[in-house]
Amino acid sequence: MEAKTKDLWVFVETNEDGTAKNVGLELLTPGRMMAGKQGGELVAVVIGNNVEAAVNAASAQGADKVIVVEGPEYAHFSTDAYAIALVSLVEKYGPTSMLIGATNNGRDLGPRVSCRLKTGLTADCTALDIDPESGNVAWTRPAFGGNLMATILCPDHRPQIGTVRPGVFKKGEAGEAKAEIIKEDIHVDAKDIRTQVLELIKDMDSESVDLEGAEIIVSGGRGVGGPEGFEPIKALAGVLGATVGASRAAVDAGWIPHSHQVGQTGKTVGPKLYIACGISGAIQHLAGMSGSDVVVAINKDPEAPIFDVADYGVVGNLFEVLPVLTEEIKKARV
Ligand SMILES: Cc1cc2nc3c(=O)[nH]c(=O)nc-3n(C[C@H](O)[C@H](O)[C@H](O)COP(=O)(O)OP(=O)(O)OC[C@H]3O[C@@H](n4cnc5c(N)ncnc54)[C@H](O)[C@@H]3O)c2cc1C
Repeated sequence: MEAKTKDLWVFVETNEDGTAKNVGLELLTPGRMMAGKQGGELVAVVIGNNVEAAVNAASAQGADKVIVVEGPEYAHFSTDAYAIALVSLVEKYGPTSMLIGATNNGRDLGPRVSCRLKTGLTADCTALDIDPESGNVAWTRPAFGGNLMATILCPDHRPQIGTVRPGVFKKGEAGEAKAEIIKEDIHVDAKDIRTQVLELIKDMDSESVDLEGAEIIVSGGRGVGGPEGFEPIKALAGVLGATVGASRAAVDAGWIPHSHQVGQTGKTVGPKLYIACGISGAIQHLAGMSGSDVVVAINKDPEAPIFDVADYGVVGNLFEVLPVLTEEIKKARV
């Protein structure tokens, strides 16, 4: 389809309680910059049931307009209901580009919508800009196991759609909520919703691990040697008020749940301080944490690539270094 406007849309996914998921609000940050370069407005799209909180949050985060679709059929995410609503909004308003958070639901919704609209989608992007030559969105994402960064354009079809990793962009400061709110009455027949949610079971562990929002992360890798090797990591995290992270090697070994994994197939994090213990610094791990403000590495091997990205490094055995560090921090805090 042809774009009718130069507007950029951000799909702001909601939680069951009508609040906004962080990623949608984060995406308003690059969205603002890109909408400016495209010469259009920044529009947030909120679909759900009783979503006033999400609408206000998107407005306070600087959206020019918020388009809202509400109804009981949107109370839980469903591919059919959400895709029908989003496609009909796009057909009506014709945005030129659209960002969707690469959450489980976003990864499900994005391709469905792009296929119905017969347009391009770049999945799981980690960097965004506007290509200065063509004015198209330049979608950048890791490819080939993270060994190559690919920048992808969608020159001939609109809207240009991409899903974007949570945690890559930082949410701006909330300001005055002054967006124009547009309510759209779109309802989906029960017969058109082919999935039925019988029960939602909360994963208690992943609920409690907020790596993306953490200010300090202490991570362990294969060097911790076993599940008990995470004890000194947890002790240091305890005195720092930090969240515990892990490399994929530690997760694959079953030493810690996947919800702690940092990296290309785990979470992308951007804390003020990232302490990597017994982690070699493989490219797929770095893909998830190189946006940290300060990186400290503790590793036995002075040649480990993690030292290339570390601001401070200790060459040593983590089982000797961590207890000393933990004690010193405790003393400094008294
Ligand atoms: C498609 C794909 C996706 C991937 N996604 C991810 C991902 O999301 N996240 C991720 O982390 N990896 C990911 N990987 C795996 C990645 O390539 C590495 O295998 C992994 O990151 C290695 O983890 P590690 O650094 O803990 O282990 P290793 O590379 O084995 O490093 C262990 C380090 O610990 C040090 N060490 C050992 N004992 C001690 C000690 N007592 N004290 C101090 N240091 C010690 C060693 O010197 C070594 O540097 C992915 C791979 C592929 C192919």
